[in-house]
Amino acid sequence: MNIEAVIGLEIHAQLNTKTKMFCRCKNDSFDAIPNTNVCPVCMGFPGQLPVLNKEALNLAIKAGIAFNLEILDEFKMDRKNYFYPDNPRGFQISQYDKPLSKNGYISLISNEDNTEQVVRINRIHIEDDAGKLTHFNDFSLIDFNRAGVPLIEIVSEPDIRSSEQAVLYAKEIQKILKYLNISDADMEKGMFRFDASISVRESGDNKLNKRAEIKNLNSFKFLSLALDYEFNRQKELYLNGELLEKELTLGFDETSFKTFFLRDKEQSYDYRYFPEPDIPNISIESKVIFEQKKNISKLPADKKKEYLSLGMSEEEATFISSNNKFVIYFDKILKETGDLKLCLNFFNNILIQYLKENFLDISEQKIKSENMIELINLVKKGVISTTQAKNDVFPVMFEDGLSASEVISKKAISQISDTDFIEKICKEIINQNTESVDLIKSGKDRVLGYLVGLVMKETKGKANPSMVSAILMKLINS
Ligand SMILES: [Zn+2]
Repeated sequence: MNIEAVIGLEIHAQLNTKTKMFCRCKNDSFDAIPNTNVCPVCMGFPGQLPVLNKEALNLAIKAGIAFNLEILDEFKMDRKNYFYPDNPRGFQISQYDKPLSKNGYISLISNEDNTEQVVRINRIHIEDDAGKLTHFNDFSLIDFNRAGVPLIEIVSEPDIRSSEQAVLYAKEIQKILKYLNISDADMEKGMFRFDASISVRESGDNKLNKRAEIKNLNSFKFLSLALDYEFNRQKELYLNGELLEKELTLGFDETSFKTFFLRDKEQSYDYRYFPEPDIPNISIESKVIFEQKKNISKLPADKKKEYLSLGMSEEEATFISSNNKFVIYFDKILKETGDLKLCLNFFNNILIQYLKENFLDISEQKIKSENMIELINLVKKGVISTTQAKNDVFPVMFEDGLSASEVISKKAISQISDTDFIEKICKEIINQNTESVDLIKSGKDRVLGYLVGLVMKETKGKANPSMVSAILMKLINS
């Protein structure tokens, strides 16, 4: 009997806004002292009125569009009532039966065999976060800075069949949220977390058996380990004829890598949902949706396809398409120079390496795309060699933010295009490498590159390589 996993994910992502969901407290409390970034609204004091954050709403709409959901004309906020120490109001403001958007999907390409699989997304709704509890042996501490932070919850249909697929799905969602600046989705800061539901059944069966929901997974590794552990546990029960009798809520122990029982799974009636009386139903005008659509450029998967069709390698296309800022910069320099090979060399091999070594983001460095375009065009025209550009010009541009031509005139760099001088060195190299010359004469053209390299070395990279190559051939054949 073949047993398969039936998995659905709820992903919580913190929206990239300046302020919290319903008040003017800052969204980002990363460096703040606990319980300092709070106000009467997010602390739930009596009589305070929440006001929905417009920017959070726009980002949530953008997410809905990106994942192919239908944005509903009207949505409403609801109170989800539960008592827990991290929840100062005694309820969360969330969405129940009229969410912001519903019925979308995302296509995943398998890492192993490149097959495409679609995971349907049931809904994306907005809500605010609770505070953060930290547990010690015999006491717990609470930090309300996170209370009221804006979240989207992305709820998938149970279309996922393995832990690998769950990770692939979650990573794709994370990539798109980051790419579109909807969420930083930084897992170390708790901005991207999962609840994973899993049940088992015989392969080919269509029914959904009772499931267990594993709460609060905060890394891809734990997501994968928790699902694997829970799958094996349920599979064994199933094979012994012991289906789950009721739905469970589980925790995951990050040291033993095992799931453990928390409570029977709460059903929606446990939360006593009712419409949030302090926020009216909100209609979304079509122009708002249109505005957000305009903000969505090509998504990473489409951009990658486009790059592959231009002739990039899988690795190059994946790397650039994974980051919207890279895409914008790269597309600009490629458009203006029209030289894919040089652009890849100067972007992937040179600029990105410098960024890594200096721990900089591309938006923090000094080489504007216009200056990069000029540098590449100077190489293309043969005014300077790639070696000169890389070793002499680029480092100064990176350091001082100067343009390529400013650096060249300041440092008196230019390529040697003096035919007589190059010819003299070529002759010397030919005399010192008679064996290589014989090989070239016998048709082994590739050896020519070796001789060009020797001439370039002799001129400290200042000779024009295509000129060197032509002169060498001329001398060898004469
Ligand atoms: Zn507040």
